[in-house]
Amino acid sequence: MTRFSIPDGSDFTLANLPFGIFSTAGTAHRAGIRVGDFVLDLATVADEVGFDFDSTVLSVPVLNDFIALGRAKTSAARAQVKSWLEKQVGEPVDEQHFHRIGEVSLHLPIRIGDYTDFYSSIEHATNVGRMFRDPENALLPNWRHLPVGYHGRASSVVVSGTPIRRPIGQVVGSASQSPGFQPSERLDFELEMAFVVGKDSELGEPVDIADTEEYIFGMLLFNDWSARDIQRWEYVPLGPFLGKSFASSVSPWIVPMEALEPFRVRGPEQNPEPLPYLRTEENANYDIELSVAVNDRSVCRSNTKYLYWNIRQQLAHQTSNGCNVRVGDLMASGTISGQRPDSYGSLLEITDNGKSGDFLQDGDTVTMTAHAGTGKHRVGFGDVSGMVLPARVISR
Ligand code: MN
Repeated sequence: MTRFSIPDGSDFTLANLPFGIFSTAGTAHRAGIRVGDFVLDLATVADEVGFDFDSTVLSVPVLNDFIALGRAKTSAARAQVKSWLEKQVGEPVDEQHFHRIGEVSLHLPIRIGDYTDFYSSIEHATNVGRMFRDPENALLPNWRHLPVGYHGRASSVVVSGTPIRRPIGQVVGSASQSPGFQPSERLDFELEMAFVVGKDSELGEPVDIADTEEYIFGMLLFNDWSARDIQRWEYVPLGPFLGKSFASSVSPWIVPMEALEPFRVRGPEQNPEPLPYLRTEENANYDIELSVAVNDRSVCRSNTKYLYWNIRQQLAHQTSNGCNVRVGDLMASGTISGQRPDSYGSLLEITDNGKSGDFLQDGDTVTMTAHAGTGKHRVGFGDVSGMVLPARVISR
């Protein structure tokens, strides 16, 4: 008989309790909470726990309707589950409620309406500006005044474990001025975190920076796969397009903001001081350790706390023109690089644009991990991983 416990060193302690969507063989996709090496089937504990909402929102294949209940209800539900789980420790595992992690499939946890990618790391923006444009003026004049971003494609966001097909596109070789149409030879990862919007805003009504926390449900680990050769040719003047939109991968568990509360820290000093609509006085960054491995070889260690622009500023800026956000929208940070070369969050930076190493090869697997805290306070995100598949044969 197995008794319920949480292994030492687990990312999924009682301090975490992230939400996801899972299925077991032949069953429907539904909501679960990861705890230790188990997935708790949330709808099955509704009566015992006594949720104050209709539990049918837990028996559907995405978390949007659950998240749309609002921070007050989802936070209360998580607290109720936590109390219930504390009583399960040391008790026989009830297979009505718990599934072993090795016996479930994990799915994209939300229906993503819109996806925005920011560019919020000053180290990353400086490194890329130096390589792609001008070493003397690596940061463009707007960068310190607003969180630069672009609209990505929600349709190609996939859950961890999904293989990634090497994209084909227009590439200009070093000896030529005109492009060929060919598989990307500079396929890269980008180490990012993303937040999930938890509340609809009104069209025409900016979200005040003081209210932004109500609109943020939780966070995911995010790999924004990038084809640098396609990107470099196409991005002028309207920004990233096909060099980015072929795929982005997310970790399967959304860590709610409540679990990240103990890890709030001050962000880097912002100079010049942002305009009033972007000012955050309190600790608005998060101390989350990040790492990237390519085929089990560690290539980067970074931290979310390095981000120059924080998530509240991103949301306030996104809605400042009156554009509305909706539950399930995804906003990614941009590549999170630190100051040292071993903290650079992309191969573009790590290899100095291919001078000191290779971009991704077919068959390579990129795995990112993230966690905050230690011991029974540890809050981890699990992995986001993906293997590179060869490009399709070009027919014309
Ligand atoms: Mn990106």
